[in-house]
Amino acid sequence: MEHKKILVCGAGGFIGTHLVNSLKSKGYYVVGVDLKRPEFSMTTADEFYTYDLRDRLLVNTVMSKHNYDEIYQLAADMGGAGFISTGLNDADIMHNSVTINLNVLDAMVKYKQPKVFYSSSACVYPEHNQEDPNNPLCSEESAYPADPDSEYGWEKLFSERLYLTYNRNYGIDIRIARLHNIYGPFGSWNDGREKAPAALCRKVAQAKDGDTIEVWGPGTQTRSFLFIDECIEGIHRLMASDCKEPLNLGSTRMISINNLVWLIAKISNKSISIKNINGPRGVMGRNSDNNLIKEKLNWAPGEDLEYGIGITYNWIKGKANDLQ
Ligand code: NAD
Repeated sequence: MEHKKILVCGAGGFIGTHLVNSLKSKGYYVVGVDLKRPEFSMTTADEFYTYDLRDRLLVNTVMSKHNYDEIYQLAADMGGAGFISTGLNDADIMHNSVTINLNVLDAMVKYKQPKVFYSSSACVYPEHNQEDPNNPLCSEESAYPADPDSEYGWEKLFSERLYLTYNRNYGIDIRIARLHNIYGPFGSWNDGREKAPAALCRKVAQAKDGDTIEVWGPGTQTRSFLFIDECIEGIHRLMASDCKEPLNLGSTRMISINNLVWLIAKISNKSISIKNINGPRGVMGRNSDNNLIKEKLNWAPGEDLEYGIGITYNWIKGKANDLQ
């Protein structure tokens, strides 16, 4: 077995927790860093540092500890529509995430760290290509001319470019994935940063049979959702490839938000009615375009929404029951 040394930035978050577990199961030595430890499980990382990555000196400290074979940069100030689409957190989102990316890249140059994965987002795509819920355009090249609908998306686009320049000018090997709505257990579900699948699973779990639940927006807005296991598999495959351009990593199984509620209700065996209310909703349509990932990786993620939502719903139901 190969004994790689890996650094995961954002190792206390949702995707970071799963990624650390997966890297450990491959037998690697994993160092994790985050503002906080994982909320819902013990970390399996060999070393874990609760550092603020906005602090350049702390980033240098963790970078100087080992010669890492690979670095995964997942740390970002982020959340669902309730966090990124209200405008209330925009300055923090842009300042904090850009600072982290600048610090990580500068420290990589300083300590001669060779290779990094950067988690970008489907939020980079222009708003005007995502107004029709039935026909959104999210192919990789359509990101330009740029016009993301949120500052979060602008930050991701800028940071993608930052990674590309450090590749061009400093020779750092880079991989970039534009993640599309990743969901699963161990993610935010009731702290104001939760995304639609977790928020809707929570609302259904807390509802009684026959209840009505409130859903933000008209409910006709569409998205696709990727289960965490498929996301982790995609990250590994991308890292093993030689593809340095940003790639979509998402599902092409588009579903309206109200239909997602029906799917969750079916899994819960409850009869649920929906009241669509005003609320942050983001763009009207978004779907992954997987042509490029199929071409570059000869692979595309599985799209079994019932399987993934089943696991996620049961995890959130357990958490909601614990609160009672
Ligand atoms: P998350 O919020 O659970 O994880 C991000 C982690 O970054 C958190 O644990 C947070 O504490 C940490 N962090 C934030 N600021 C920090 C700082 N100053 N110093 C150290 N750590 C800090 O989110 P996630 O869903 O696991 O997302 C991981 C990455 O993937 C993020 O970059 C996110 O933008 C990107 N992404 C996620 C999705 C998704 O659907 N989950 C979609 C697109 C992109």
